[in-house]
Order: sequence, then structure tokens, then C-alpha cells
Amino acid sequence: MVVASSRLGDVTDALHGLSGWRAVAGGSTRSASVAAGLAALCGPDDETVLIHDAARPFVTTTHVQALLAALADADGAAPALPVADTLKRKDGETVATVSREGLWRVQTPQAFRLGALRAAYAQADAAEATDDLALIERSGGRAVLTAGDPMLFKLTYPEDFAMAETLAGAARITRIGQGVDAHRWGPGEAVWLCGVKIAHTHGLVGHSDADAGLHALTDALLGATGLGDIGEHFPPTDPQWKGADSATFLAHAARLIAARGGRIVNVDVTLICERPKIGPHRQAMRERVAEILQIPVGRVGVKATTTEGMGFTGRQEGLLAQAVAAVETPA
Ligand code: MG
Repeated sequence: MVVASSRLGDVTDALHGLSGWRAVAGGSTRSASVAAGLAALCGPDDETVLIHDAARPFVTTTHVQALLAALADADGAAPALPVADTLKRKDGETVATVSREGLWRVQTPQAFRLGALRAAYAQADAAEATDDLALIERSGGRAVLTAGDPMLFKLTYPEDFAMAETLAGAARITRIGQGVDAHRWGPGEAVWLCGVKIAHTHGLVGHSDADAGLHALTDALLGATGLGDIGEHFPPTDPQWKGADSATFLAHAARLIAARGGRIVNVDVTLICERPKIGPHRQAMRERVAEILQIPVGRVGVKATTTEGMGFTGRQEGLLAQAVAAVETPA
């Protein structure tokens, strides 16, 4: 594996314990990087070597098998697609149509007989080549093309990444989690709800800041990903969480999800209480939750309802919060 020299330590660490992998530092050009990779290979000349751009993530064994088969009577092989779009050449203000007859777009991985590629790199001015098959062609070796595949497209522009995420989405699933929390009303002059401090005639009693909205939401996120519950991650018996800002809990759940390659799709919190009135604070709550989770505010819902005087919320003994969260994760 050839990587930027600045990342060599990270990649070496990541490969630790895996057999058959070794990382070497690349050069300032593509061909210099390939040359560094070749220099690290100690196999005999009749070995096969495949060179692949990591920027083409959708390579499959079918592509590789076709290349290996093509090497039976060639020194190098690469997948290629016929040019389908009409080609134009612009010279100043003059536009002319160029024939696309016989033109192919070449992709990677490319496969070579190791000896032939070594010889080609030793001979040619490799710096000018934009692919390795070109060096085989120049050195008089036999180059062949195998069937290309639109899925071997290279991630170059921002829209390419969006396309790749959509394609990769087939291997992702959406999970739903729910959370419920209640805290008792007690003495106080303010209450924290969904990360916003609201002046009130009472406060909520709890070990942390008692933000039932954020607690329910934290549990919903942990539940969506099967990561336990808030009490497991932040035990109320632990003195370090006394009076804690519940944003810490929510941000922790978001980090756990991100570390597993997950992405929060949307969240929705319902606060159930007679007072205080939530409506005037709803937008501030949505914005605060979006900020903690680092998602667009359009993906955050905050609602409130009363129970019309019934039950513990109706008697104003406590406040109840419910939340749901949708999280997309690798399947
Ligand atoms: Mg709680």
C-alpha cells in the first residue's frame, strides 16, 4: 500500500496485526508513488502485480479475475470503456468535433507481469505517464484492454462522493431508537430542556442538569445502535456527572455513532408537561440539539403536549420526555 509520507505512521498503525500488508511512502507524482510500491515488492519477475487507485472504491473480484485472465498472453491489462459522449476540441473560440472512433476511457485496477512493469519503469520517463499501461505500451510490451465498468469511476469531484454514498447506500440500513425519561419537579427558578435554560417557578430534580429532553434523546440514539442506555454510559452514582450539562451525554452518543460509520437521519423529541410553555422556546431547542449533534436543524423536531391535567405530568409532579431517532449505519 502506497500512502502519503505524512500518513505513513497512521496507516502502519492501522495495518498492525494484519498479515500480507505493508505500507510505503509515495512520491510527489503518481508514477513516483507506483515506483516506490514496485521497489517494495520482492517477488520474481513472473509474478503478477495489480495497481489500483484507492479513489475507485467499487472494484470487485470479477474485475480482477478478468484482468488476470487477460495476462495469459499480455504484459499488462487494464479495464476500459468505449467513449460514449461526443468529443469536442475548443481552440480559442473555435469548436470542432473530434471523432470518438476507437477511443477508450481507461480505469484501474491494472494488472502486469511484475518483470515487464519493472523493465518499463526502468526504461521510460515514467513521470509523463498518467497510467501504468502506457509505460508497457512505450516499452514495446503487449497491452490489452478488458471490459470496463461504470462502477469503477474515480472519486474526483464533490458530486462523485455524493454518487458513491448513494451507491454504497445499498449496504446500509436505517435503525430506529426510542427513549423515555421523567424528572420530578422541585424547588428552582429555571429548568433545562433540550439544552435550553428556561426561567420557571420550579426546577427539575436530578443528578445531572435533569434535562429530560436530552436524556430521552440520548437513549433514543443509543437504542437505535444497540449501544446500551444513558445510565450505563453515565452512571448517576458517579459524582463526576453531578450537575453535568446533558449536552455532554448527547454529544457522546453522537460520537459513538459516528465512530461506527453511522449517520443520524433525524430526531424528534416530545416534552409532556402542563408548564412551562414550550412553544416560545421550541426553535432555540431545535437549534441547540442540531448544534450538539452537528446535523441540520431541519432534521430535529421538538414538540410539546399536555395530558390535560391527568397523570403525574398533569398533576405537575414531574415532566415526561419521549424521543425517537433514526440512524443510518453500515448493514
Ligand atoms: Mg434523566
